[in-house]
Amino acid sequence: MRHTFKGESMLDYVDLEADLSKEEQLIQETAREFVEEEFKPDAGEHFIEGTFPTELIPEMGELGFYAPNLEGYGLPNVSERAYGLLMQELEAGDSGLRSMASVQGALVMYPIHAFGSEEQKETWLPDLGMGEAVGCFGLTEPNHGSNPSRMETHAEKDGDEYVLNGAKTWITNSPISDVAVVWAKDRSDDDTVKGFVVDTDLDGVTTNKIDEKLSLRASITGEINLNNVRLSEEDVLPGVEGMKGPLSCLTQARYGIAWGAVGAARDAFEEARAYATDREQFGKPIGGFQIQQEKLAEMATQITNAQLLAHRLSDLKERGDLRPQQVSMAKRNNVRMARDQTRVAREMLGGNGITADYSPMRHLSNMETVYTYEGTHDIHSLILGQDLTGIAAFE
Ligand SMILES: Cc1cc2nc3c(=O)[nH]c(=O)nc-3n(C[C@H](O)[C@H](O)[C@H](O)COP(=O)(O)OP(=O)(O)OC[C@H]3O[C@@H](n4cnc5c(N)ncnc54)[C@H](O)[C@@H]3O)c2cc1C
Repeated sequence: MRHTFKGESMLDYVDLEADLSKEEQLIQETAREFVEEEFKPDAGEHFIEGTFPTELIPEMGELGFYAPNLEGYGLPNVSERAYGLLMQELEAGDSGLRSMASVQGALVMYPIHAFGSEEQKETWLPDLGMGEAVGCFGLTEPNHGSNPSRMETHAEKDGDEYVLNGAKTWITNSPISDVAVVWAKDRSDDDTVKGFVVDTDLDGVTTNKIDEKLSLRASITGEINLNNVRLSEEDVLPGVEGMKGPLSCLTQARYGIAWGAVGAARDAFEEARAYATDREQFGKPIGGFQIQQEKLAEMATQITNAQLLAHRLSDLKERGDLRPQQVSMAKRNNVRMARDQTRVAREMLGGNGITADYSPMRHLSNMETVYTYEGTHDIHSLILGQDLTGIAAFE
């Protein structure tokens, strides 16, 4: 496994890092070091085996990698830019690593923090923050992906209890989760969508693993099957109703993805740059040929553009002005950029580029998932199309 970290700076072409606060620099350095020293040495093997290094989950908690932008319950309340930089560094390791922190922070801790009761917050936030508990987010169903408002999972009142039935699929971390935030329609309340905080040890909850993925292999994915699961009224998230519940979580997570994809592309670029100055053909380094230089110039430019967009989002988010459509634009653009540029990096590595000894092919493969989840590229086009024209084209 090759490394490009020690002693070398990462692509930061327009000096964005020069304007980081001390706290932001510290978080970036901490995450970079963690990724280089703890994660990367085995990244290729985890990808090949289809495993996630679960032993790192508590360490990531101790380092403050889960929802550090939230306040209270032992959470550090760092800036939105610091949170973004963290996602960038984790995804420079692997999209599976960033997905672990994104799901735990933005899709599980965020809704409990924003919409949960005091008891739910105290029960779950400290443990999730420390990585002593793992959470997952159940929205997608076998028959309802891009249009989750058609979900079939439902809850029905029975005395003081709710009985939950349904099936969720493609759920990151479900097989190793202690708690699932499950979105379901309340049949006793006009089919209103509500969030249910489900302890995965409850009778009737099963979380089968989905095997044989060819993308995001270093991430555990599964189903959540709910068969007459009995919950109390206290297990409902009291602070939100309707699709704005899950959609507001997705805005948080998509913000992290817009940053994270830059990290994957940057890591692939650094591998390609190092390879190009090292590998010789026709008597000189391949980086000395104009065709390869053009590729590096284009990659560096596209990565820099995406970095600028991510930094701008963090300013808007910090001051409370960030619109979901702006997040859609950044998710859509930055993931497409990473999907395209990791492919260019892969080709620059020739035959070696198709092995797990180098990161570009792994990142490229991961990008197929990142392009698809949290709203496919097409769905973000439609969100932007509606914002730009006032006309919805979803149906
Ligand atoms: C590895 C992985 C992890 C995931 N983790 C989670 C998770 O933790 N929690 C969770 O809830 N979900 C998760 N997902 C699910 C993910 O969000 C969905 O796969 C995604 O929303 C797309 O849904 P779908 O797969 O059902 O595709 P579909 O919605 O069936 O779409 C199929 C194709 O049709 C296109 N399409 C759909 N509607 C339209 C339209 N109106 N106009 C034009 N084109 C359209 C799509 O863009 C896509 O290309 C994960 C997925 C993967 C692969």
